[in-house]
Amino acid sequence: MAKRLTVEVAVVGGGPAGLTAAIALAQAGVETALVAPRPTADPRTTALLAGSVTALQTLGVWPGCVAQAAPLRVLRIIDATARLVRAPEACFEASEIGLDAFGHNIENGHLVAALNARARELSSLVRIEHAARAVDIGETLVTVALKGGGTVAARLAIGADGRRSLCRAAAGIETDGHRYPQTALTFNLRHSRPHEDTSTEFHTESGPFTLVPLPGQRSSLVCVIEPADAEEISALDDAALDAEIELRSHSILGKVMVEPGRGAFPLAVETARHFGDNRIALIGEAAHLVPPIGAQGLNLGLRDAATICELVVAARHRGGDVGASELLVRYDSLRRADVRSRTLAVDLLNRTLLTDFLPVQTARGFGLYLIDRIGPLRRAVMREGVTPAMSQPRLMRGEML
Ligand SMILES: Cc1cc2nc3c(=O)[nH]c(=O)nc-3n(C[C@H](O)[C@H](O)[C@H](O)COP(=O)(O)OP(=O)(O)OC[C@H]3O[C@@H](n4cnc5c(N)ncnc54)[C@H](O)[C@@H]3O)c2cc1C
Repeated sequence: MAKRLTVEVAVVGGGPAGLTAAIALAQAGVETALVAPRPTADPRTTALLAGSVTALQTLGVWPGCVAQAAPLRVLRIIDATARLVRAPEACFEASEIGLDAFGHNIENGHLVAALNARARELSSLVRIEHAARAVDIGETLVTVALKGGGTVAARLAIGADGRRSLCRAAAGIETDGHRYPQTALTFNLRHSRPHEDTSTEFHTESGPFTLVPLPGQRSSLVCVIEPADAEEISALDDAALDAEIELRSHSILGKVMVEPGRGAFPLAVETARHFGDNRIALIGEAAHLVPPIGAQGLNLGLRDAATICELVVAARHRGGDVGASELLVRYDSLRRADVRSRTLAVDLLNRTLLTDFLPVQTARGFGLYLIDRIGPLRRAVMREGVTPAMSQPRLMRGEML
């Protein structure tokens, strides 16, 4: 590789958000460098909502995912708390809003492999398999120094380098957030009964316990519990873990066998004060960390990627500077409300589960009852969950950049 490479946009970080941004730009003919070391194993799965699936279709990535993804046709919420006031069971079907599925669930390993395969097909994309060591912001260019030696200079750097983002620190962007007294354990399971394309979320006093279909008789599980319980469960041997998960899932999937690969993620929320500044735009977890409740994190991250790429392509057509501060201010304003509203909704749901305060329990139960029983409200909530009215970048609508 040349010691000093100059491109229009440098994307730092090759997780799903960064890869998506790099593909979207390169597909639109923007000279792009992707600064990303080889991916490490990620035990998570992602429920990609319909808009994200459409974007991946538009980018030519979905054919590489489809065989590994399971459709989510029914969402079921069950109040499994032992409290005085319990919400009634709520069940939502994608067909009620004219969709075949709310989205698809896929293992992150398969998603990243499909993104990488598509990225390799694009000639305007230069791949640099080294981590960024430092990011230096100049008046007209931002320069990324690589761990393997050499630099990449660009008009704009897209920071897709995760929750401890080097790009965010280099741009001097602070974050706000807090931790929750909870840990999310992740497992993939085989089970003896079919899931019938249904995702089931049990609400418990320590957080949601969510089973999401994978292809065949397999599901992924995100179990949000207190850190001490998480340690205990993580230490169980395979047979004891199988029994524990079958018990907690009320045997709805029959006999359960946990597959190798256990994950544990302390819960936190963190949002950058600006999503773009100083020739750096932040996307994905570099911009916002959301608890894994309600499948929001990467769906937001993909909308970030689609939005910044749309702005860059439009600026380029006008002959403008793709790293200009007006473009970054516009990016921030386009993403802020979507991120804020989803973060607040997740936070609120989580807090209402954790609290013992009876009026709050009652309000949660009543809210779910209303959503379940009132047809137009129910459909509006479903539509908003899948395709947020306030953020529909072109890729999510199936339009090329
Ligand atoms: C348990 C759990 C379940 C979840 N389920 C869902 C779900 O169902 N639906 C959903 O939408 N979201 C879900 N999420 C959220 C989702 O997993 C994240 O939003 C997503 O993985 C973040 O992707 P990213 O590309 O922003 O960051 P990451 O995946 O963290 O990628 C960042 C990349 O940057 C690289 N990097 C870091 N530093 C540098 C550097 N200096 N130079 C170059 N590269 C660097 C890293 O190696 C990494 O590859 C879940 C999260 C958890 C914890």
